[in-house]
Amino acid sequence: MADQIAGIRLAAVIGAGTMGNGIAHVLAAAGLETQLIDAEAGALERAASTIEKNLGRQVARERISAEQASATLSRIRPTTSLDGISDCDLVVEAVPEVRDIKHALFEELAGHADPAAVLATNTSSISITELAAAVDGPDRFIGMHFMNPVPVMKLVEVIRGLETSDETLTLVMDLCSAIGKVPVEVADYPGFVSNRILMPMINEAVFCLMEGVAQPEAIDSVMTLGMNHPMGPLALADLIGLDTCLSIMRVLHRDLGDDKYRPCPLLAKYVAAGRLGRKSGRGFYEYESGGGS
Ligand code: NAD
Repeated sequence: MADQIAGIRLAAVIGAGTMGNGIAHVLAAAGLETQLIDAEAGALERAASTIEKNLGRQVARERISAEQASATLSRIRPTTSLDGISDCDLVVEAVPEVRDIKHALFEELAGHADPAAVLATNTSSISITELAAAVDGPDRFIGMHFMNPVPVMKLVEVIRGLETSDETLTLVMDLCSAIGKVPVEVADYPGFVSNRILMPMINEAVFCLMEGVAQPEAIDSVMTLGMNHPMGPLALADLIGLDTCLSIMRVLHRDLGDDKYRPCPLLAKYVAAGRLGRKSGRGFYEYESGGGS
């Protein structure tokens, strides 16, 4: 297995939640030594067990061998410290969809990361140009928007900020292809393409529920059986995380300045109650245990 991919030798993923564990999984599966960093030790434990479970599923389906699964796991180094990040050529940020948390992290990274490293954000909606302004070298900053669940979904939406260099864009496009993904470049605009289209549909499904148009199962059945969607919008919202959906709607509403993006009050109410979807065990549906994707 290669020990360098598209010029990257060592990668770090910051944030080991729903997306971070999947991103670490696919980077390590492609052969990259990957640090998986989270502020919470418990999140790292949950991430390790999710990655192990997802690898086990791939082995059971004969997509990979047991040796490949254990080699992938051995390349992932979970840690709560940013200390080892200075050796990394690529840092992928996957902390919550909250501007202040991301800004603070990128400011903190300035003291740790190699000035030549590529800094990528997995943000779903926040301006790449704005986040890039928090780092010293905005030419090395880029949006690398993986889809959930990362080991399964082919697309990476690649977003160039105002100052992103051609070299950074080429490196990230090549890296995505090398790890078996299909990169699609889109412009830096709130929600990019994916969430500009997907989130208003999910938000509208929540309005349907709030207004009593139908129950969750019926709303999802209309969209799976009637529109041939593989998953209904409410089940998908539970998979994404209702807090993430709400944050994205707030970015669309604020940054596009149009009330058609007003977040549904029921979505806000569920988030306030801690019903975050699969990761908390309850959203529009109930789940046996939190954390799985
Ligand atoms: P999540 O809430 O599941 O996980 C976030 C993780 O970040 C948590 O484990 C938390 O402990 C950790 N964290 C918080 N602050 C930190 C810090 N300062 N340093 C290190 N770790 C920190 O969130 P998620 O759903 O994985 O989303 C992460 C990013 O990916 C967001 O920007 C989101 O919009 C984006 N995204 C999410 C999805 C999705 O379907 N959930 C899809 C594509 C992109």
